[in-house]
Amino acid sequence: MHPAAFVPHPSLGWEGELSALASHLEGKRIALLTGAGCSTESGIPDYRGEETSRRARNPIQFRDFVRDEGGRRRYWARSVLGWPRFLRAEPNRAHLSLAALEARGLVRGVITQNVDRLHTRAGSRRVVELHGALEEVTCLSCGHVEHRGHLQERLLAANPSWLDREAEIAPDGDAELEGDVLQSFRVLGCERCDGVLKPRVVFFGEGVPRPTVDAAWSIYEESDCLLVVGSSLAVFSGYRFVRRAALEGKPVFLVNVGATRADAVATHRVQGTAGEVLERLTALLG
Ligand code: NAD
Repeated sequence: MHPAAFVPHPSLGWEGELSALASHLEGKRIALLTGAGCSTESGIPDYRGEETSRRARNPIQFRDFVRDEGGRRRYWARSVLGWPRFLRAEPNRAHLSLAALEARGLVRGVITQNVDRLHTRAGSRRVVELHGALEEVTCLSCGHVEHRGHLQERLLAANPSWLDREAEIAPDGDAELEGDVLQSFRVLGCERCDGVLKPRVVFFGEGVPRPTVDAAWSIYEESDCLLVVGSSLAVFSGYRFVRRAALEGKPVFLVNVGATRADAVATHRVQGTAGEVLERLTALLG
């Protein structure tokens, strides 16, 4: 069975769309799926928003990171520049509203594609980080986990005045920096065994770990509907939840500024910024 395809109601208007969403969600157990659009109001750019999709992005592939020392140098040299801004980002109204809905028992849990840990900082308790979190770094040889902030201090000690560079900050804590300057960057190994360090995030070309996927499916299965906030759903690891919901006839609700891959199967969609929509929605569901 398929849920009714999303057809915007011509006469409802924004307020009407919002009240309709609140009515749909009333008394339901909600599984949340969030993406980069949830954090743009915290100052972290998304990948496929109106502005960002115009800029070409070339994120490192897992294979290149593991095999190629030059690839790793490029990654860390840029990441050191991007980290301070990423660290300064604070949870916004969207994160806080979602945490409040969980505390009231409406939201069963958050499945997030974001790597910024802002849901947890906002007070959400049951959060599945599908793509990991930038806050931790792991050694590919001995498995030792180091806090990213600690590694930042070590990298800056090895590369003094690296932060003096001006660079545009990219969505994933990365920064735009190219050319010969990268060659001078000193990459560090694990503080225990000198093995290769990798941020604990899922790179392109790498799979989401099985226990993480299972934890996400548990949230989905315990819920009556799926609410997707701030995701284009272009990435399959998030889209799979919508696909199964569509197959099973579980209602899918969308809150997003731009178009998404699920517009045709959504039960209802509110077009707007996550902060405003979720704050209003939380009040309506009060
Ligand atoms: P995406 O960039 O593909 O899509 C973001 C969507 O959010 C767009 O459709 C955009 O129109 C919408 N949007 C932007 N601002 C919004 C707002 N204020 N309110 C509502 N909607 C808004 O992001 P995605 O679907 O999450 O996929 C991107 C991938 O990149 C993910 O896998 C994620 O791991 C990674 N990523 C993470 C972060 C982060 O941790 N904050 C940031 C960028 C990318």
